[in-house]
Order: sequence, then C-alpha cells, then structure tokens
Amino acid sequence: MNIHEYQAKEVLAKFGAPVPIGFPALTVEEAVEAAGKLPGPLFVVKAQIHAGGRGKGKFKELAADAKGGVRLSKSLDEVKANAADMLGNTLVTIQTRDAGKQVNRLYVTDGADIAKEYYLSMLVDRASGRIAMVVSTEGGMDIETVAHDTPEKIQSITIDPAEGFQPHHGRAVAFALKLTGDLNKQAIAVAKSLYEAFVATDMEMLEVNPLVETTDGKLLVLDAKVSFDSNSLYRHPDIFALRDETEEDPAEVEASKYDLAYIKLDGDIGCMVNGAGLAMATMDIIKLNGAFPANFLDVGGGATKEKVTAAFKIILSDPAVKGILVNIFGGIMRCDIIADGIIAAAKEVNLSVPLVVRLEGTNVQQGKDLLANSGLPIVAADDLGDAAKKIVAQVKQAA
Ligand code: ADP
Ligand code: MG
Repeated sequence: MNIHEYQAKEVLAKFGAPVPIGFPALTVEEAVEAAGKLPGPLFVVKAQIHAGGRGKGKFKELAADAKGGVRLSKSLDEVKANAADMLGNTLVTIQTRDAGKQVNRLYVTDGADIAKEYYLSMLVDRASGRIAMVVSTEGGMDIETVAHDTPEKIQSITIDPAEGFQPHHGRAVAFALKLTGDLNKQAIAVAKSLYEAFVATDMEMLEVNPLVETTDGKLLVLDAKVSFDSNSLYRHPDIFALRDETEEDPAEVEASKYDLAYIKLDGDIGCMVNGAGLAMATMDIIKLNGAFPANFLDVGGGATKEKVTAAFKIILSDPAVKGILVNIFGGIMRCDIIADGIIAAAKEVNLSVPLVVRLEGTNVQQGKDLLANSGLPIVAADDLGDAAKKIVAQVKQAA
C-alpha cells in the first residue's frame, strides 16, 4: 500500500526524522491558510499523488512550459496561484502512465535553503533476506540518470534485521555521503530513525530523495515516498487508515473487498484462476500462444459462488477484455460447485465475450456436464494447453 508524501513525513517524524513543517490542503483556500501558518518567506506547494517525478512532471491541461507539480512560491498570492493551477488538473510524470493522475490534494510546506541534495532509500532485499539502505551523494531529480550512467556513485549498506541498526551502519551511511563533523552525526541519527520507522511499520520501500543539507548545516527529509507490506496492514490500523483509495485502480479496490488477488495487466484475455502458481502458469501459456493476459486474478482456494461472480464482474469491467479463460483446480472446492458458480455468474453479468473453461479435480465430470448443459456458449477445455489455444483462437476469430 502506498501513501502520500505528507503522510509519509508524518510517520517518519514520529520516529524522530527531521521533516520540514507543512500542512495538507484540499482547496485553494486551505492552501493559503496552510501557508499562513508557515514562517516563510519561501513556501512550497506540492501535488500529492501516488507517484514520484512530480517536480519534472507536466500538467495535461496547462501550457507545455508551465511549471510541474512542485512549486516554490514567494508569497501567499503565489501559493494561491500555484494551488489553483494544480488542483483538479492531471499531472503526468515518468512514474504515472500517459493518462497521468488527477491532483486532488496539495501539501504546503516550508521552503528550505538547499546547499546539497543527497539520496537515501531502503528496501527489503529478498536476495539477502536483509534490509538494504541505498545512499548517494548525487540526490535530487536526476537519480535515475545517476543510477544508469554512474552506478558507482550509489552505495548499498545491508542491515541484518536480527542484529538491527548498529552504530557502524550509521557511520557507513555518513561516510558514503561524505559528511563530516556535525552533519556526520546528523546523518547517523537520520539513518537510525528511518530504519526504525521502516521496521516498526513494516515498510516495503522508503525513498527519501532528496535528503538535503541546508545552508545553515541541517539535514532535512525533503521528499518521502513510502510503501507498506500489504500483508502486514492488519497489525497497523493507524497505517491502514492512511489509505487513499482514489489513488488506486478502481478494479483493484473492488477486488480487495472480496479478498481477490487482482492485478490489471495490458493484454486482452481475462484470467480467472485459483492459486497464484496456477495463475502465473496460465498467464505464461497465454503468452506462449501469442496473446497477452489482461489481468492476474487468483480467486483463492475456497472460491465461493459470490467470489466467482465478483471476479467475473471485475474482469469484465476492463474494456480491454476480449475473452475470458477460467482455469480452476477443484481441490478444496468441488468442480460441480465451481461450475454452478461460473454459470450463475455468466448469466448474471450477461457475458458478452468468449469464455473458455478448464476444470480439473474432484467431481470434474459433473462439473463439465453442468457447463455443457447450461445453454451458455461456454467452450470446455481438457487441459491447460488446450484451454489457452482455444481462448486465443476464439478471441482472434471474434476480432
Ligand atoms: P519529486 O521527487 O516528486 O519530483 P520532490 O519532493 O523531490 O518531488 O521535489 C522536487 C525538487 O523540488 C526537490 O529535489 C527539491 O530540489 C525541490 N523541493 C522540494 N521540496 C522542497 C522544499 N520544501 N524546499 C525547497 N525545495 C524543495
Ligand atoms: Mg523526490
């Protein structure tokens, strides 16, 4: 689960990370009011969307040379003009798709006098089973170029969670950032607070870019991008409350209500499968037959009729879907029950695209008979390879 920058900064501040003061705003008036509470003379109005690259982003509705989603403002009037420019408009960045994201929230924060920008991020490194702290002296909006052209300028420090954050980790971070004296001490403290926030809240990824050194010698977290491990949210109700569903894909939000694992993809063959491994194999075999899956969807081991119906509706809500492949192994659930669910769902949603069903497992013959006698144009398949061939052929024929 992702959250907004201002929320991430609130979380990090609780763990002692140095964060500039600021307030979220939903309207132009709130933005001006927020700026009024800041010391000035420089205010920064920042678009809050779940994507980075805002500074260099472009608004669809504004002139090509208009400023991006992070705007320095020298007066309350400028704050007002910038807020009015951004709210309701669509920001396209390197991290959004071409469609961009509508800006519905702003963050109005204290402007910093920047001497230098650094980079610090953290992630769970699955290869080592540890937490990697990735740092660079070359922070700021061009970190992707740094990573591409001069990867040696990015250093990684691994921390064993069993050992926790030790003083030597802090020293390694400060050394990699080439900081001395008081800034060195600050870097150690910042790294420690970020590590503690990361572990305590079950973050998956934390990116502070930039971490800045101000002209008066202070380190500040100037941007923060955080995502949490969704499987851990049940034990962090306070974090879960930060969820902004309007930033998520509506079909994925709907799927999560039914406990369906659904991820939208770019192809045109909708897939309904039980078990993540079988779902992956199904997507692979669709590709092997020259087509592309429209989604990943795991209905889970105990798929009920309600779940199957919800899954059908979600798949069909994607206008790109030209056909559906159902691939279910009836282990915990019997095939006849699944067939009942498929028939009911197909009738309820008024199925308008070809549907190929492959069933295997307990009571498979009863299941197949039910499908064959349903009066619906359902194509039965004998195995995975056969199913993929059939749905690809059906979709090509319909095109
Ligand atoms: P993004 O990464 O989405 O482009 P950032 O928050 O990193 O957004 O902002 C982009 C750039 O804007 C930063 O690298 C920094 O130079 C400048 N900036 C952001 N916040 C502030 C601030 N509070 N004071 C001064 N400059 C800022
Ligand atoms: Mg940034």
